[in-house]
Amino acid sequence: MSFSDLPFDVGPVYEGERIRGNQMYVELGGPKIDKHFELVRVKKEKEIEDGKVTIIGPNIKDMEEGGRYPIGILVEVAGPELEEDLEAVFERRVHEFCNFINGVMHLNQRYTNWMRLSKSLVQKGFNDLTMLGTVLIRLYKAELPIIKKAQVTLITDPKEIEESYDVAMGIYNKRDERARTIHDEDVDMYYGCVLCQSFAPTHACCITPDRTSLCGSINWFDARAAAKVDPKGPLFEVPPGECVNKEAGEFTGVNDMIKKRSLGEIERIYLYSGMEFPHTSCGCFEAIDFYIPEVNGHGIVDRNYGDVAINGLPFSAMANQTGGGKQMPGFNGVSFQYIGSPKYQLYDGLQLGFESGIYTIVWMPTTVKERVAEFIPEDLIDKIATEEDVQDINQLKTWLKEKNHPVVDTWVEMEEEEEEGEWEEEGAMVPMGTVGLTIPGAGGAGGFKVILKNCKIHAESIIIKKIEPKRRKK
Ligand code: SF4
Ligand code: ZN
Repeated sequence: MSFSDLPFDVGPVYEGERIRGNQMYVELGGPKIDKHFELVRVKKEKEIEDGKVTIIGPNIKDMEEGGRYPIGILVEVAGPELEEDLEAVFERRVHEFCNFINGVMHLNQRYTNWMRLSKSLVQKGFNDLTMLGTVLIRLYKAELPIIKKAQVTLITDPKEIEESYDVAMGIYNKRDERARTIHDEDVDMYYGCVLCQSFAPTHACCITPDRTSLCGSINWFDARAAAKVDPKGPLFEVPPGECVNKEAGEFTGVNDMIKKRSLGEIERIYLYSGMEFPHTSCGCFEAIDFYIPEVNGHGIVDRNYGDVAINGLPFSAMANQTGGGKQMPGFNGVSFQYIGSPKYQLYDGLQLGFESGIYTIVWMPTTVKERVAEFIPEDLIDKIATEEDVQDINQLKTWLKEKNHPVVDTWVEMEEEEEEGEWEEEGAMVPMGTVGLTIPGAGGAGGFKVILKNCKIHAESIIIKKIEPKRRKK
């Protein structure tokens, strides 16, 4: 496969390239645009015109520099071995393949897809979106040889995208509904995915019926289909092995997988906990489950929420804390689908004396609440605050007391424990799990890394000082 006919470079080496606002020529999709999507569909061979790229809406030359436009990416593929169950996994590769282009940054998936094209890419001669379609078609056929034919449609017109967007949303919903029909105890095989290791080298997803991948785009059925057609590929079987702790979702086979795939960095995972040995997070989680120590409960914030969450942090700041393949108790990347599962942070709920993990939730944005409302127990839904009900932690405390949220009962215990002197008087004890500190050597070369495993760090304050090199006076 060659890209020498195109005026830019293509290859895995460009994955991870960041394009900042001042380097960007245009932005496609992303949080500021209403409707955008990416979708892969398996079709019959006769329905596909191999290599064809169709552009609907303004092309690069019609776009204003610095502008933002919708983007609908529809990839249609055919091949005798293809089945519908493979669509979601193929779709996840749009992210990787777009990032192969030097000058393209692609983030997220499904209807949160977000791309930036750099000024230098356009200066090099990328003046037609057909080139993007051509790269996708070539990469799909080269990297996934079971795809024999492919065609791509790119939609950039806000009116024209509407119908296709609705079709895409209907397909995502259908996939999610199907995934809700089975649970972890109904199957004897789980799956793993390492597609995000180019960004987060110690991260691997464990995909079970109840724990749809944190990117929200690969459920257990999708992973099963992918592992079947390409067992040596980025999605693979994970025999669960022995169940060590049913409530926590700890399995010997899952531990073996993460140990191997994180190169020994992570040794065990509780699939159903955000607080103890949590599943690692790469960077493409749909939402973050975060611990709020002041109320002993959890909040959920999604990546589309533009304001600061109840703990005073925006999604982006918490995403830095959560992502990168670290095991970070108190910050856990999750998919919406997992939030709706009966296993959702089950261990954390049981630890507080609740019947399930969803009872630990005290705050979420209105949009998230609307989205997961059908999965929240009736006796809890009105007790979860949103940004419309409370603006800070003190208001949240009052709200939870007034509504008699179940976490309030745990406060009494907390206060008692404090009186017994088991808690430090000031400052917060934050469980940190495995933490790495890198200490660079002289001149920026060499240095060493300190890894603190299963540590608890107590700090009354943290001081970060920039050390200026001392210069000798002449
Ligand atoms: Fe795979 Fe997980 Fe990355 Fe999704 S988030 S692409 S399942 S590694
Ligand atoms: Zn990821």
